[in-house]
Amino acid sequence: MMSHTQDITHHISDEMIAAYAAGSLEWHYSLVVATHVSMCDECRARLSAHEAAGGAVMECGRPTQMSANAKSDLLALLDEPVPQEPQPFTKSGVFPAPVMAALKGDPPKWKSLGFGVRQSIIHKDKSGSVRLLYIPGGQAVPEHGHRGIELTLVLQGAFKDETGRFGVGDVEVAGDELDHIPVAEKGEACICLAATGAPLRFHSLVPRIFQPIFRI
Ligand code: ZN
Ligand code: ZN
Repeated sequence: MMSHTQDITHHISDEMIAAYAAGSLEWHYSLVVATHVSMCDECRARLSAHEAAGGAVMECGRPTQMSANAKSDLLALLDEPVPQEPQPFTKSGVFPAPVMAALKGDPPKWKSLGFGVRQSIIHKDKSGSVRLLYIPGGQAVPEHGHRGIELTLVLQGAFKDETGRFGVGDVEVAGDELDHIPVAEKGEACICLAATGAPLRFHSLVPRIFQPIFRI
């Protein structure tokens, strides 16, 4: 299997990995974290460490001062391969196993947003949404601000905005303060998995007309 791990430069924050390991991250963000982890050796190792540490604390009942022996036992444990949960879904095309599981094995149901941009909403509730975005090469996503955090993971192609370049496997974390215009690189279409904590705010007239269609 082709790995993009060496090319990934934008990772999941430690706070978010810890929240995911503890099961306290909202579903729409969790899907992005799970998908990134499936593509990224570095974050998979960090997640395993968090899960092992969380398990060790639970076994002890309460966190206590660890003896040197216990510490080395724990570190030895971290080196062991983590047993994999049975994965009923596998990667299909550019969609990693967690995305295929969220889609229940079906291909995404794309809806046109105009200018060749398409989206497929995977899940949406009051707390937020997660969707796939398809942006033709060279095309821009309208400028918008965020209420809450937007997590965008690239599955194919690449995009650039004011903060940098994001290629396959990279995650952009955009907060309240960021108004940005992501532009897909020329060539291959950019396909992203994007989770938002609240509806996006678009600035110019045309995108505001589009917003009800976006349903995000
Ligand atoms: Zn990573
Ligand atoms: Zn954004």
